[in-house]
Amino acid sequence: MLTSFNSFILKVMRFLFLKNSDVTYPIIIKRSDHTLSRKNISPNAIKVLYRLKNAGFKGFLVGGCIRDHLINLSPKDFDVVTDATPEEVHKLFSNSRLIGRRFRLVHVTFGREIIEVSTFRANSENNTNNEVSHSEHGMILRDNSFGNIEQDAERRDFTFNTLYYNIEDFSIHDYCGGLEDIKNKQVRIIGDPETRYKEDPVRMLRAIRFAAKLQFELEANTKGPIKNLSHLLDHIPPARLFEEVLKLLGSGYGVQTYQLLRQYGLFRYLFPETDALISSNWNTENIIPEAFILQGLKNTDQRIAEGKSTAPYFLYALMLWPKVLFRHEEFMAQGLPATPALHQAASLVIDNQLAATAIPRRISTPMREIWDLQLRLPKRFGKRAYLLEQHPRFRAAFDFILVRESSGSNTGNLGSWWQAFQEGSDKQRRELINSVDKFPVDRHSGPKRRPKRKRYNKNTKASPQSQTGNDNA
Ligand code: ATP
Ligand code: MG
Repeated sequence: MLTSFNSFILKVMRFLFLKNSDVTYPIIIKRSDHTLSRKNISPNAIKVLYRLKNAGFKGFLVGGCIRDHLINLSPKDFDVVTDATPEEVHKLFSNSRLIGRRFRLVHVTFGREIIEVSTFRANSENNTNNEVSHSEHGMILRDNSFGNIEQDAERRDFTFNTLYYNIEDFSIHDYCGGLEDIKNKQVRIIGDPETRYKEDPVRMLRAIRFAAKLQFELEANTKGPIKNLSHLLDHIPPARLFEEVLKLLGSGYGVQTYQLLRQYGLFRYLFPETDALISSNWNTENIIPEAFILQGLKNTDQRIAEGKSTAPYFLYALMLWPKVLFRHEEFMAQGLPATPALHQAASLVIDNQLAATAIPRRISTPMREIWDLQLRLPKRFGKRAYLLEQHPRFRAAFDFILVRESSGSNTGNLGSWWQAFQEGSDKQRRELINSVDKFPVDRHSGPKRRPKRKRYNKNTKASPQSQTGNDNA
């Protein structure tokens, strides 16, 4: 994994050992001593950097793109930082827009690619002007005090995120010892961990995300306060946590991330009801909650590794399904039929989840469809199978069944039946339909038989009993 990084780090380490512990920052690694070439960088990011440079501003790439390159992962996006103010950047690019209130920055758009350009920020602690504001819990609500590159480095989150690539001479500047931490595979927060987590509790989630993605350890001081401060996540707006959940669980390292989130007591602030259910050890023949979630995340990780797409609604449908089933049983025990019970369960679970993370309607509608199809896919007789197959959410619902089956749920081999049906010839498809019971056992509500239809017997006078279905009448 560290191959391209190795030769480069050796040179840097020689430098570090020479200086021993009093390294003076930044450590500057010349172009000839590192492997990050312009060929590895998005051409659009290069365009942005050159336009800034030609207008007399400084321009650096920063953050994940450099970190990921050094450990041989492909960067997700390219973030640019400059000494130009957001307004100045906006003026330079007609294809840009100013965004954010908490952090004002500029998005420069090239088709589907967005290059995020931010201005060097000063450390908010030393700032008393109204460009920076804090909540009563010490959380930064607004941070628009601009500064120089040293100050900018200090207010970033982890040491490996403070590596800057200078477009001036293609050197890399390491401001906080990120290179050494990459070498030692450490996630290390910059500054006093407690203060930094209080300023922005989402940094605790980011620490976990990077540990899982990079397969690094959390350095002792970085992990120290997390359990005690986890409750601060309660103060983060649900919309921001929704975005974080997608990055945490939907970026290809979901299994490991989930395990760390549970270990550090953070998962319950993201999915409180799921967390409580898992901890209660509730399970039935329909589901073993944690096995189901782990299987779902494993499949998602695998899809991402194979370059396939994954949908946020699928992820959310997975995470909330155990509690939907739990509520479903409750509603059915109160006498509701299976389908309305499922709809009520879905609404209740989604409503409760909204207190933790937002779920936009474009996500909740397909989630409900996937759940709904879990009750409909067993009913395959006649023309139904053909119609169900056309449902826009069929494929997702089918994948969902596979997750249920692989995690030990009893679905009556529904997954293999639908697999065969999708792959079969016309004749095989007809045979498959003929092979199914017209009135299948509904795994969620027990055997279901169509009620006997009463025949009207014209020789029998209608009586109050016959109208209520009493056959003895
Ligand atoms: P990736 O894009 O792969 O998820 P990244 O490190 O680029 O990782 P971004 O969310 O794109 O993460 O943020 C870009 C940079 O902004 C980070 O590298 C970090 O330096 C800084 N940053 C982001 N979020 C925070 C935060 N909550 N506190 C401090 N610095 C942050
Ligand atoms: Mg990034």
